[in-house]
Amino acid sequence: MKYSKYNIFSNIRDSENFFIINLLTGNADILNKAEAEKLQLIRSGAIVPDSDFMAEVTEKGYFIDENEETSLYRKKYLDFIDSREKDEIQIFFVTNYSCNFACTYCYQDQYTNSPHELSDEIIDAFFSYVGKEFSGRKKYITIFGGEPLLNSPKQKEHIKQILKRAKESNLEVSFVTNGYSLEDYSEILAAGKIREIQVTLDGTEDMHNSRRFLKGGGGTFDRIVRGVDACLKNQIDINLRMVIDKDNIDNLPGLARFAIEKGWTKSRFFKTQIGRNYELHHCQSSPDKLFDRVSLYESLAEIIKLHPHIPEFYKPAYSVAKFLSENGELPDPLFDSCPACKTEWAFDYTGQIYSCTATVGKSDESLGSFYPTVTRNTTAIENWESRDLTSIPECRDCSVQLACGGGCGSVAKNRTGNICSTDCRPVKELLEMGFSAYIEINKA
Ligand code: SF4
Ligand code: SF4
Repeated sequence: MKYSKYNIFSNIRDSENFFIINLLTGNADILNKAEAEKLQLIRSGAIVPDSDFMAEVTEKGYFIDENEETSLYRKKYLDFIDSREKDEIQIFFVTNYSCNFACTYCYQDQYTNSPHELSDEIIDAFFSYVGKEFSGRKKYITIFGGEPLLNSPKQKEHIKQILKRAKESNLEVSFVTNGYSLEDYSEILAAGKIREIQVTLDGTEDMHNSRRFLKGGGGTFDRIVRGVDACLKNQIDINLRMVIDKDNIDNLPGLARFAIEKGWTKSRFFKTQIGRNYELHHCQSSPDKLFDRVSLYESLAEIIKLHPHIPEFYKPAYSVAKFLSENGELPDPLFDSCPACKTEWAFDYTGQIYSCTATVGKSDESLGSFYPTVTRNTTAIENWESRDLTSIPECRDCSVQLACGGGCGSVAKNRTGNICSTDCRPVKELLEMGFSAYIEINKA
């Protein structure tokens, strides 16, 4: 019996206690100081005269036979691959890279707009490619930009056409929009099969307007709020995203209060997410304003302690801690956290195919075309498809691998030039915070 290499063991933040989780065997425990010491002693090879404790840590797979562990890993890996083959595919379609906003942190601001324009012919080619390539798979479409809901007659016709074609193919459609023209699209959206609309508000009015303003200036907050109201009234799901950095994090309590007072958080059509503002492809003008993952979640934990109404609006996941506290069990092991070319693809109006939203529009990342002719760069596609924990050498002996999943392939490639390299997640630190915020509190 040896100490499992998939144990994640550490102390719970602001507590005397420790936690241990093992995503391969699906067990999680809180240990007091004496138990944690016993565990460490056994790990170092000492004989501990406590047969009950020994039996329990062995039964839970914290100590395990090496061969048994290898075969369990293989079995769970195959289960993961099997189940992913049945998963739904999210297919992004970029209708344009242009935008009516000039957000301070936009990562697409250096993209050049192609002289091509979207046409019915390109929309037809997109649906015909999707129908053929992903036939028999569950799937849905997400319209992305730039800003896809620009308030022009031509753009409205394109969106109508996309919604019509999607309906004919029995596909739901989501939108990622800045939300400025949502109200103007009410009728068009009402005629489609809409799954969800993702809209961004970066804070309450003044804060939001100082970060997400119109090209040429002008606030956008009021119109977005009216758009969210209209969608919720029409029972269209809203996924409200706040992009956070050090400039606006203190406004989270204010935005949470605003959403609660509007009644949004009571709606079953409303959910939220927090996006970390980070350097995706090029340096931000002020990188010192950005959080890394640990400091973002540390700041969130502090702010939530001071403003206990925030969880009604948003609850951080802290790796698998929120899942564990809400479901009473761990999620399945995550052998791959990057869906690119597996359950995610991206297409744009110039006819190009990409791995996902992080690469879409970067011509050197194109994986082929669906228009005017169908071409596929099979070597590049296979490279993306092969990315998981088993193809990233550094991940093989990493104890947090089954919670991390190897991170983002695009971030990894930007860092090392190689898709099959690491984008490490601070799993242990996040769990230290998460056990403190959600699990130990409930146990007390
Ligand atoms: S490369 Fe990154 S952004 Fe793209 S699908 Fe993978 S994890 Fe997501
Ligand atoms: S990316 Fe880093 S943290 Fe994640 S599994 Fe691989 S080595 Fe571990």
